[in-house]
Amino acid sequence: MVSPNRISVDDDFSDSLYCMVNNQEDFSLTPDQHDALLIIDVQNDFCPGGALEVPAGDEVVAIINRIAPKFQTIVLTQDWHPPGHASFASSHNADPFSTTTLHYGEQTLWPDHCVQGSTGANFHADLLSDSAALVIRKGMHPGIDSYSAFFENDQTTTTGLSGYLKHLDIKRVFCAGLAFDFCVRFTAEDAVKENFETVVIENACRAIDMDGSADAARESFLRSGVTVIDSTSL
Ligand SMILES: [Zn+2]
Repeated sequence: MVSPNRISVDDDFSDSLYCMVNNQEDFSLTPDQHDALLIIDVQNDFCPGGALEVPAGDEVVAIINRIAPKFQTIVLTQDWHPPGHASFASSHNADPFSTTTLHYGEQTLWPDHCVQGSTGANFHADLLSDSAALVIRKGMHPGIDSYSAFFENDQTTTTGLSGYLKHLDIKRVFCAGLAFDFCVRFTAEDAVKENFETVVIENACRAIDMDGSADAARESFLRSGVTVIDSTSL
């Protein structure tokens, strides 16, 4: 006996209808319970006047504040280095923005920035962060830098973020913040590797753009299957 609530259709049609509905869901950009917003490094030192300022970095704050209420799961990352960190040019008597080789490979050397407990390491004062469930602090190991929110630059030391998101049944992550061509880029690439559908909200990011690094990030997103959108699509 057929249930009165069930529409009687043949199996093939039922399968294709199911696929069609699922595909529509896959293409929807409306965040639901399986989506998370990753807000990357919106900290004073990456904003104008900071130690490692990203041009117009503070402009992302208003955009992120506008889109964040659409998400049920929000994670903040915070670059959080001990004094004398291996990524600091001053630790190597080298010039900022030069490169050196650390035990895991080439490392760009930065001005001292986001030192643990400093004002520069604080989130931008206007960033609405109360609804964030988790703050991932990265770059805490003295000898390893960490651009990605998932893995440090040795590509093996994990931050634990992937497990956290998977336990919450998150399937897709949206990335925003600073800087587009470094920490946002490597977070997005690692999210793909960890099998999350990955979206970068480009107008909610700003780039350092050193030696073509912003274009390199865009090319990498194309290659690795990261979807790049504007916040007005949300
Ligand atoms: Zn750093």
